[in-house]
Amino acid sequence: GDRLAGKTTLVTAAAQGIGRATALAFAAEGASVMATDINIDRLEELGGTPGISTRRLDVTDTQTIHSLAAEMPPLDVLCNVAGFVHHGSILDCPEEDWDFSFDLNVKSMYRMISAFLPPMLDAGGGSVVNMASVASSLTGVANRCVYGASKAAVIGLTKSVAADFIKQGLRCNCICPGTVESPSLDDRIAAFDDPVEARKAFIARQPLGRLGTAEEIAAMAVYLASDDSSYTTGTAMVVDGGFTL
Ligand code: NAD
Repeated sequence: GDRLAGKTTLVTAAAQGIGRATALAFAAEGASVMATDINIDRLEELGGTPGISTRRLDVTDTQTIHSLAAEMPPLDVLCNVAGFVHHGSILDCPEEDWDFSFDLNVKSMYRMISAFLPPMLDAGGGSVVNMASVASSLTGVANRCVYGASKAAVIGLTKSVAADFIKQGLRCNCICPGTVESPSLDDRIAAFDDPVEARKAFIARQPLGRLGTAEEIAAMAVYLASDDSSYTTGTAMVVDGGFTL
């Protein structure tokens, strides 16, 4: 396809899961993609794909984020995917864990948008796509206390950025996935006493009867990145196999 032809894009957390599928889908639609992650070994597997360049980028490292923004051409699309799923209720969440999740899931997006937005605005705008979750302000999920709080903040951040820059050609939307197959989901399932039952429970909460694929989330990212969504801003797009139905 060519829905993103000529667009300069950057994806965080592109080494695996949703970020990787998004980087590949952007490139398949003709975009030039800067794929970033801290896991350089897995990231480099993308290096040979036409349209994709790779770069180590820690989304908690403000200085490196600003130097990358200064050295790249203005982005047309910034896709913030990096995030971490903490397991537990508020009583299982010591203050360090709370701070870690907010730093990686929310402040990272503050850092990335602060750094990359000014050149985007100077160039006439573009599209910011943030990865939220249905576990957020949309619905309460057991054992996702700080995760849900942080993803609700992502929705709030998305709407604020959308409101502030709507007159300058900038759109900002987020995606709220349900349960999606990914390396980190496999790790979370493996951490249960009975991983077979745990996988069944993750599937059972998806009324569609299966987990989502990273490609199904990437398809929404392509839509929000492309001019197909030119009248859409400030939305939280639910792609959840009926989780919140
Ligand atoms: P994942 O959790 O398997 O992979 C996360 C990636 O983030 C890894 O490649 C890791 O190296 C990278 N990362 C970690 N810390 C980083 C840092 N400081 N800087 C840069 N990169 C860093 O991927 P996933 O499960 O597809 O999740 C991706 C996003 O989608 C997350 O924000 C997650 O909360 C969200 N999400 C996932 C699901 C799901 O079920 N998988 C559901 C809803 C939302």
